[in-house]
Amino acid sequence: MAFWFWYGLKNGVQSTRYPHAPESAPGVSPGRPCKTLFADATEAARAAANCPVGAITADGSLAKVDFGKCIFCQRCHFGAPDRLHWESGFEWTQAHSSDFEYEPLSRGFSHSLHVTVVDAGDCGACLNEVKQLNNPLYNMHRLGIFFTPTPRAADVLLVVGPVSENMRGPLLKTYEAMPDPKRVVAVGACAITGGIFGRSFMSAGGVGSVLPVDLDIPGDPPPPLAILHGLLAVTGRRRLSAPDAGASEVPR
Ligand code: SF4
Repeated sequence: MAFWFWYGLKNGVQSTRYPHAPESAPGVSPGRPCKTLFADATEAARAAANCPVGAITADGSLAKVDFGKCIFCQRCHFGAPDRLHWESGFEWTQAHSSDFEYEPLSRGFSHSLHVTVVDAGDCGACLNEVKQLNNPLYNMHRLGIFFTPTPRAADVLLVVGPVSENMRGPLLKTYEAMPDPKRVVAVGACAITGGIFGRSFMSAGGVGSVLPVDLDIPGDPPPPLAILHGLLAVTGRRRLSAPDAGASEVPR
């Protein structure tokens, strides 16, 4: 005990300063591809054809990325002859639908936000990243964000996985048990669009086909800071990523 007291005094606070200061420590985010302007349409089409999940579309010489599908495999950047630009950062949360403007929860929730997590058929990757939010580095409690296993005490439903048929009922029951106002956040490509599982007799192909989703956190899996950004965006403490994001128009 005395050792840990001494160790704490010696090393000081090790938690990230995000969101009060930028976080750029190595390894906190894998980054992601950006929309990229190629020299001609053929190069952009080749880049699109190189994506294993069809997340890249070519619009003339501009290659755009659909982050609902992107599995962050990095194939379009490393080793590809027609490389997309790769950006660092992690503030990737977007509104699920561009048809309406996302309305954050009121300020009353901003330092007392309770989150319940449903694994709707996750492979374990996104769930593992969600778990990291409780570790000393990310330490989400310092921001007034807490996990709760009780839907009746939850303000946010965080869903990982593509919604397997077996989890459809429990997911709906969880949502219905939550008091209003509530928000639903889809974490990772599988929860957003079904990802590599797609839609089948055993997969709903994304949370949006079962529940009204408010926010998407792209990634496969998204790093903990991307999930933290999403939870801060729920109450408007951080801005959402632009709808056409990934998107600094970066000529190669
Ligand atoms: S990182 Fe995303 S956009 Fe690039 S090849 Fe992989 S899935 Fe496609």
